Order: sequence, then C-alpha cells, then structure tokens
Amino acid sequence: MKSDLTAAQHEFRDEVRAFLAERLPEDIARRVRYGRAVGKEDQIRWTRILNARGWAAPHWPEEHGGTGWSLVERHIFDVECRAAHAPPLSGFGFNMVGPAIARYGSPEQKQRFLPAIRHADMWWCQGYSEPQAGSDLASVRTTAVRDGDEYVVNGQKIWTSAAEIADWIFCLVRTDPAAQQQKGISFLLLDLTSPGIQIKPLFAFNGKRLWNQVFFDDVRVPVENRLGEENRGWTVAKSLLGDERLMVSRVSENKRLLGLLREYLALQGGVESAGFASRFSELSIRLDALEMTSLRILTDADKGQTIGAEPSMLKLKGSQLVQAMDELLFELAGYWVLPQDRSLRGTTDAPPIGPEHTEYIASGLYHHRGYTIAGGSSEVQHNIIAKQVLGL
Ligand SMILES: Cc1cc2nc3c(=O)[nH]c(=O)nc-3n(C[C@H](O)[C@H](O)[C@H](O)COP(=O)(O)OP(=O)(O)OC[C@H]3O[C@@H](n4cnc5c(N)ncnc54)[C@H](O)[C@@H]3O)c2cc1C
Repeated sequence: MKSDLTAAQHEFRDEVRAFLAERLPEDIARRVRYGRAVGKEDQIRWTRILNARGWAAPHWPEEHGGTGWSLVERHIFDVECRAAHAPPLSGFGFNMVGPAIARYGSPEQKQRFLPAIRHADMWWCQGYSEPQAGSDLASVRTTAVRDGDEYVVNGQKIWTSAAEIADWIFCLVRTDPAAQQQKGISFLLLDLTSPGIQIKPLFAFNGKRLWNQVFFDDVRVPVENRLGEENRGWTVAKSLLGDERLMVSRVSENKRLLGLLREYLALQGGVESAGFASRFSELSIRLDALEMTSLRILTDADKGQTIGAEPSMLKLKGSQLVQAMDELLFELAGYWVLPQDRSLRGTTDAPPIGPEHTEYIASGLYHHRGYTIAGGSSEVQHNIIAKQVLGL
C-alpha cells in the first residue's frame, strides 16, 4: 500500500524488521510459512524471545510489560511479524484475559497471572459459548453458586478452542438466575486441573481437533478467582473487546497470504498465467482498501476519538478477504491440493507428494471458514452495520 507512514513510523518498522530477521527462529518461520501446525513448545520459544525484548504484550499497560505503542505502531508490528511468518501468540492469554486482568484484577491476581502469561508459563482458553448460548451470549446457563469462600460451578461450555493445551479457562457463569440476562453473570478464572472438570474433543470435518466441550460438575472455585464484581461479569467480558475490537481487520494475515500468492504465481509462470492476473489485482486492491480503512480508524482512535461500530466492517471484510485469498491459493495448487492434505490422508507423518508449498493450502482454506463465525458471525456483523453505521 502507498501509505503515509511518518518518518518515525518508518524507523519503527525498520527496527521491527531487523529484530525479526535476527531473532525469529528459522524453523518456526518455515512451519508458519507452509501452514504447518506450530506446536506448544515452539509457541513458548517464540513468546519468550518476544518477552525478553519486551514485545510479547505491546498493548498491555506499561506497568505490566506493555510498550506504550500507538495503535498504528501495533498495526505495523503485526504486519511485520506476519510478513516474516512469525506465529501469532496465544490470543486467549495475550489479547483477551490478560488485558481484562490488567484492568479489573486485584493486585494479587495481576501479580499471579500477568507475568505467567507473558512468559508463556500459563496457557488460557475461553469458556463463553454454550450449546444454547452463542451469538446470544447473555443466555449462558452454566451456574456458579456461592458456598462460603467458594463458588460451586455446574454446566457445560462448547467450541472451546485449545482447551487441550490450556492450564486455565476464563468463563462467563450465571451467579444470579433471577436477574435480567446480562446482569446476573460473573467472570470466573478456573484452573483446568480442578476436580470435576472434564474436557472432551470436538473434531472438524477433516478430522482435526479444533474445539472441545468442557463439562463442570460441582467444580469448586475460590471466590478470589472471580474477576471484577459479582454479577458484573458482562462488563468485564465487554472490556475484553476493548482495543482488541479495533484489531480485527486481519490486514497482516491478508498481506502474508497475498505475498504467498505472489510467490506461488511466480513459481507457476507469473501472474499472467492461467488468467489469474485480474483476480490477483482485485484481491490486492481489496487489501489496500481494507488497510487504508483500518489505518484511518486506528489513527482516529490514537487521537482519542471514540470509535463506534466501524470495527464490524473490518471484521467482516477482513475475514471475507482471507477466504477469497484461500480460494485463489486453492485453485493455484490445482490437482495437488486434495491428495496433499495430510488430514484427508489420515496421517500427519506422510511425506509430501507434491510441491512443498501446496501441502497445507487445503487445511488453511478449511480452517479459515471458521472466521465467518468465530468472534461474532458475519450475520451479526451485518446487523450491527445496518443499525449502527447505516442507521437502518
Ligand atoms: C473456529 C471457531 C473457534 C471458536 N472458539 C471458541 C472459543 O474458544 N470459545 C468460545 O467460547 N467459543 C468459541 N467459538 C464459538 C463461537 O463464539 C460461536 O460459534 C459463535 O458465537 C456463534 O454461536 P453459535 O455457534 O451458537 O451459533 P448461533 O448463535 O446459534 O448462530 C447460528 C446461525 O444463526 C445466525 N444468527 C444468530 N443470531 C442472529 C441474528 N440476530 N440475526 C441474524 N442471524 C443470526 C448466525 O450468524 C449463524 O449463522 C468458536 C467458533 C469457531 C467457528
């Protein structure tokens, strides 16, 4: 994009680039580049490299290890990290519960949890959705009944990503069944090794364990593990969105995918081949428009302006663009794409049977379909845009 970054922002970008060139482990970048899974050990390694530089949690308050960067600087950092094929850090700890603890936590909670998240010693997952509560999250039914210094939790969460590798889960639970929907909800932090918790896998259609169901059967949780006031968990949950709500455009991810498309097109005889030129240009223009819109909103927010429902447009357009990139990648990989897919071959150890770059294109396409739903479905975003942006 022909953006108008300031001289200081250019300098900042160069500093990030130099750091990534020097410190991002090649083996990890290679895994990300080819769409292979990055295991927990590698995630920990990269998180600790960033943490040692003071860059693991740029958006946290500075007293808890944040950098004080502006939103535009954070955008630049994200774009550079993704362009270098750095794996994104665990969003549940860094983008969700971490900032919420920094804002609503007691001094003890901050001390206990924040350094552990930054150093990748403690992994989190998100227990919001339930079988009857998804888009309509205020319908959660999992209960937490006070018993002295503890809550007794009963119920079920569903679609819980990464519970199988997490140590803790943050949950919305109902503490006052008589109160109006949002008002009777509290925000609890639960140790996943507590007696009474059972985690069962949920598999996607290609056999990958993408989610879990988490069952709570008389699980005792110390009251000190409640974040924020009792029955005010909805306020905490909303704050999880905070600034993160603005970082939903997936520009950095789209740029990475566009870079791969360019590279793979070159491998196959250049952008003019097979009539892909106009589609590539269209994606490139859509990405420019998305980045400009995103930077405009981030710059306004940096200036202290209140941002309304615009991030819904970024979420919608960003996720649609990732999927359009996937589709072109899929077509480019041609007849290799399905035979290459290891999950369809029922093994993760099988050697590749075609060009290396085609190996995980199908997996990427399947995985990114979930962007339509996760973090607020496209239909819900359309509703928000219709009401709050277009005034319909
Ligand atoms: C990849 C992925 C990862 C996820 N990870 C997690 C996680 O870690 N933790 C967690 O708690 N949850 C997670 N979720 C769950 C996700 O938050 C829910 O799927 C989402 O909130 C939608 O809820 P639902 O599945 O119950 O669908 P529903 O809310 O029942 O929606 C079903 C359909 O109806 C549409 N719809 C709903 N309401 C309206 C409306 N008012 N107007 C028009 N259409 C509407 C929806 O768009 C959708 O198409 C994940 C989901 C995905 C796909």
